[in-house]
Amino acid sequence: EPLGNRQRIQALSAHREQVVEALNQINFDGGHIRRMIETFEQQIQLANSPDEMQRQQTDLFWENTFVRRLLDGTENGTYLGMDLGGTNFRLVRVDLRDGEATTATRYYSLGKGLLVGPSSELFDYIAVCLKSFLKEEKFANKILPLGFTFSFPSRQTSLKHSTISTWTKSITCTDGPGLDSAVLLEEAIARLGVETLPAGVEVVARISDTTGTLLAGNLLDKNCKIGLILGTGSNAAFVEYTHNIEKWDACYNDEDPSDVVVINCEFGAFGDNGCLDFMKTEFDKELDTHSNHPGSYTFEKHYSGHYLGELVRLALIKLVRAGCLFADQPSALLEERWSFTTAHVTAIESDSQETTTNTMSVLAEFGIPNPTADDVLLVQEVCELMSTRGAYIVATAMVVLLNHINLPEVTIAVDGSLYEHHPKYHNNMVKLISTWCPQTKTTLRLVKDGSGQGGALVAAISEKTLPH
Ligand code: BGC
Ligand code: MG
Repeated sequence: EPLGNRQRIQALSAHREQVVEALNQINFDGGHIRRMIETFEQQIQLANSPDEMQRQQTDLFWENTFVRRLLDGTENGTYLGMDLGGTNFRLVRVDLRDGEATTATRYYSLGKGLLVGPSSELFDYIAVCLKSFLKEEKFANKILPLGFTFSFPSRQTSLKHSTISTWTKSITCTDGPGLDSAVLLEEAIARLGVETLPAGVEVVARISDTTGTLLAGNLLDKNCKIGLILGTGSNAAFVEYTHNIEKWDACYNDEDPSDVVVINCEFGAFGDNGCLDFMKTEFDKELDTHSNHPGSYTFEKHYSGHYLGELVRLALIKLVRAGCLFADQPSALLEERWSFTTAHVTAIESDSQETTTNTMSVLAEFGIPNPTADDVLLVQEVCELMSTRGAYIVATAMVVLLNHINLPEVTIAVDGSLYEHHPKYHNNMVKLISTWCPQTKTTLRLVKDGSGQGGALVAAISEKTLPH
């Protein structure tokens, strides 16, 4: 199926053939979709295998979250969620009254320096934020259970404890891998002085943003079985029957057939082993080489918010070098890596077919105040091609999960700035999913701040089911 308005590019008079040739590789067509589905299914089999040698052949974590149930409407109490994902930091208070949630959220910005220094500085900062949140929210002095949404790949060993595998996205702290994020948080709170906090806090769980979004989505809609993040990074979690998890047969073989567990796919690294090389463009390869974490987390580098703008920039630069774009007005800023962001892509694609206001102002920002009509059209097309490809790739991953879950009706809860703000990701994903997974009636639903809210919700779950 052709992408977007490819015809418009083809209609451009100048350099038509060169442009089409340069951009052709961005096309994500039926052949790619089919092959990606097959590859993903093979990798799931490996990730699920009881044989450790097989599991080592894949980069899908297929991680046990130790979340063994969803909320059932009987939860009561006040819970804290803390959400650290890379770009923003949030604190959430959730009051549950017989399963009805009232939420208060505060946002804190993470200074650039915190993202590159020792992890203790990052955690000291979030402990300070926690202290001021507790003060502002005027909690009565009792022990508040806290669920920590910590959205970096980790090996989970219990509901609370996990070991960080690597940083991703914009964090390159000097240490972290090998450490336990819940312990890092507790140590930072201890350094601040537990007695200085206006209320007691007990860290009871660590989850990823995907699990958080799933829990928050399921509170709104019982058909919600998948939580998807489409923000700076990307990943998903889903509700699985424990009897489907072959690698756990040994530890869970006495389970009831209806027993479930949330699986964190941790699919950001899918393809690091080379299994997706067939769909990589020169832009993907170049982006990876110059990224914070080369050779790792290659899947999300195809489409998530930290990368989409840079992919577009690389394609634009290719057209500039070929003499097809901005012939009379070279832009020094556009030559700078990472200067073109996903927010720019979102702005440009928010222009309608007839308007160019946003595109013109982005180009002006890049020192191109007088683009030709062809320039404007071409920039819009490159954005659309790249973001449509991105939406198709992540939607294909959803098709794989939907097939795996195999239910007549499924809601996917989505959180993340890319999905929230981009004008076309949603529609393009819906289009692909309905074509490739017609047997499941699928709804994609924005659950804003679900990731942080889910931190508080998992604290409520843990209180009811686990001694802590
Ligand atoms: C991380 C995941 C996370 C995702 C979305 C990825 O880079 O590895 O753990 O869920 O970003 O934030
Ligand atoms: Mg997030």
